Amino acid sequence: KLRSEPAMEAREISKRFGGFIAVDRVSLRLPPRGIHALIGPNGAGKTTFFNVMTGLFPPDGGAILYAGGNVAGFPPERLAGLGLARSFQITNIFKTISVRENLRLAVQARDRRRFHLLERADSLAEVNGDTDELVKFLGLEGLAAVRAGSLSYGGQRLLEIGLALAVRPRVLMLDEPLVGLAPAERERIVGLIKRLSEHMSVLVIEHDIDRVFAFAEDITVMHNGAVLAAGKPAEVRAHPQVQSVYLGT
Ligand code: ADP
Repeated sequence: KLRSEPAMEAREISKRFGGFIAVDRVSLRLPPRGIHALIGPNGAGKTTFFNVMTGLFPPDGGAILYAGGNVAGFPPERLAGLGLARSFQITNIFKTISVRENLRLAVQARDRRRFHLLERADSLAEVNGDTDELVKFLGLEGLAAVRAGSLSYGGQRLLEIGLALAVRPRVLMLDEPLVGLAPAERERIVGLIKRLSEHMSVLVIEHDIDRVFAFAEDITVMHNGAVLAAGKPAEVRAHPQVQSVYLGT
């Protein structure tokens, strides 16, 4: 049978803040490749679920199966070392240095230990090679030498995703990557996400339900901390409760 194992699986993840249940037994499976969107109205629990999945805080219940074991409660650095990358809305970009230098620092940080031990010429060549590859993949060749802070908003978003890619992730989590972008910039980021999804599993938080239908292959809808619906875009779109939740907000 050719059905592949999921790259990552959340099983009945719960998270409370005091007596308030922000995430209530949420399960989802991410295939090794493709785009899975997590949607839902404000306050649904999407960000909290993301934060648990990326190790920002441990769940109060449930398991996260990844890289051959249960990684629930692993800190973000450890998960990053296992190939889980996350791009934040809050920017990690150093605005006063060039686009290329930003990417180079991220590539270098991927394997700090090796770099510390041996400052070999081939390591340097590898860092430079990987950096060039990233610049090209992002389509930023013409802007590699400019100050990162002088990029357009969409260009900075692109670079931000590029920094997350420096760890060579197997799973990439993006928190509202399209928010605040002009239509042309949105197309560019969607194009990048689609290309990335041929190589890795991408989980995207998106507030705008209509937008995700254009690019997500699987959708999970959260509402009041729990999964309201999950499936292919057409199934989710036809779901009566999804319609009422979205029309009601
Ligand atoms: P979404 O990302 O879908 O908008 P959030 O995960 O940000 O939803 O929030 C889900 C619920 O959890 C909200 O009601 C929010 O007020 C609450 N919440 C989030 N973070 C905290 C926190 N650190 N302490 C208390 N309540 C929180």
